Amino acid sequence: MSVVEQVLEQVKKRNPGEAEFHQAVEEVLRSLEPAIEKHPEFVEAGIIDRLVEPERVIMFRVPWVDDSGKPQVNRGFRVQFNSAIGPYKGGLRFHPSVYLGIIKFLGFEQIFKNSLTGLPIGGGKGGSDFDPKGKSDAEIMRFCQSFMTELYRHIGQDLDVPAGDIGVGAREIGYMFGQFKRVKNQYEAGVLTGKGLTYGGSLVRKEATGYGLIYFVREMLAAHNTSFEGKSVVISGAGNVAIYACEKVTQYGAKVIAMCDSSGYIVDENGINLDTIKQIKEVERKRIKEYVNHHPEAKYFEGQQGIWGVKCDIALPSATQNDINLETAKKLVDNGVLAVGEGANMPCTNEALEYFLENGVLVGPAKAANAGGVATSALEMSQNSMRLSWTFEEVDAKLDQIMVNIFAAAQKAAKEYGMEGNYVAGANIAGFLKVAEAMKAHGI
Ligand code: GLU
Repeated sequence: MSVVEQVLEQVKKRNPGEAEFHQAVEEVLRSLEPAIEKHPEFVEAGIIDRLVEPERVIMFRVPWVDDSGKPQVNRGFRVQFNSAIGPYKGGLRFHPSVYLGIIKFLGFEQIFKNSLTGLPIGGGKGGSDFDPKGKSDAEIMRFCQSFMTELYRHIGQDLDVPAGDIGVGAREIGYMFGQFKRVKNQYEAGVLTGKGLTYGGSLVRKEATGYGLIYFVREMLAAHNTSFEGKSVVISGAGNVAIYACEKVTQYGAKVIAMCDSSGYIVDENGINLDTIKQIKEVERKRIKEYVNHHPEAKYFEGQQGIWGVKCDIALPSATQNDINLETAKKLVDNGVLAVGEGANMPCTNEALEYFLENGVLVGPAKAANAGGVATSALEMSQNSMRLSWTFEEVDAKLDQIMVNIFAAAQKAAKEYGMEGNYVAGANIAGFLKVAEAMKAHGI
C-alpha cells in the first residue's frame, strides 16, 4: 500500500464521522502522490502523517442569554492545524452546520492556501454551531463576547489570528475585538483581521476574496488565450465573496446573470444589478428573493441547486462546501462551461472536480483562487505591525500581484510534475512543498 493510501486509511479510522475532513484530505493527498514520490525525505521525516493531525484542537462551551432572557449554549471550536511557516491564520465560521469535521476540513485547506500566498502564515480555523440568522444585534454581541471570553487565551498576534468566514463579518469581528481588548487589557491590533477601518482594519479586506478570485481566473483565462470580455457568469452565494467577485468581473466586461442565497436563486438576463444586491444583503440583511421586487424582469426560483442549470461560460461557486456535485457538474459541462473558479472552500465534490478536468474545463481551485482574502488579512497584519495604513490602490496592487504569483506557482508545479493545465494538483503541490520543507527543517 502506498504512503498516501496508508495515511488516508489512518485518517478515516482516527476521525470517525468527519466526512468533509476525509474528503479534503483525500483530495489533497492523492494529488500530492507525484511530489511525495520525488521527495522520499518528506516521507522519512513522517511529514505526511504529521500533516493530517492538527497541532492543537480547542473545543469549548459558549453560554449566552437571548433577548427573552433564556440561557442558550453553543459549541465553540478553534483548530490550530499547522504553524510551520507562521502563526495559525484562518477564519471563524458561525453556522448551524458547524461541527469538528467542518472546522478540520477548513483548517486543513487553510494550510496550503496560506502557504500559496507566499506570506508567513500557518493554517487554522474556528467557529461555532451558532446560527446568526434571525438574531438581534444585541444577541449577536452577547454571543461574540461570550465566544471571545474563552477564545482570547488561545490566540495572539504571534500565535493565532482569526478572521471572518460564513456568518462572521466586520460587525462580529468588532464585538470580538472589543471583548479581547477588555479581557486582555491590551491593544493588540494584529490579533484579529477583517477589522473595521477605524481600528486597524485594512482597505480592500472586504473586497479581497472576491477581487482575488477574479484576478486569479483572469490569469487562468489569459494562459489559455481568452478573457472575461463578453462572457456570461453564474455566481452562487450572495455574501462577501460573491458580491465582490460580481463587482470585479463586471468591470472586466463579463455579465453576471445569476446569483443565489441558501433559499433560492435569481436570474437576470440583463446582468445582475449589484447595488440592489448590496442593499438587500449588506444593509437590510434580507433574502435574495427581494431582488425581483426591484427588477420585475428578473426571475426568482426556490431552492439553490437549480442555479447550476443556468447556461454560462464561467461558474464561480462562492457559497459553501459541496455546492457542485457530479450531477450538477455534468449539467454545467453539457451547457458548455469553459471555466470554474472556486470562491468558496471546497465548493466542488472530488467527483465534480475530476469530471471538470476530464472534460477540459479550466478549474481554479479554492486554495489558490480564494486565497486573496487571507492574503489581504496578512497585509492587514503587516500594517498593524508597522502601525500605518496603505491606500486602497496600494493594497489592491499587492493583492493583484499575489494572485498573479499564486497562478504562476500552480501553473509551474503542475507542469513540473507532469500535469500541465491541472491547477488543482499544481496548487496542492506548490502549497505543500513550502510547508513540508519548513516542517522538515524544524525536526520532529
Ligand atoms: N475565511 C477566509 C478563508 O477561508 C479568510 C481567512 C482569513 O482572512 O484569515 O480563507
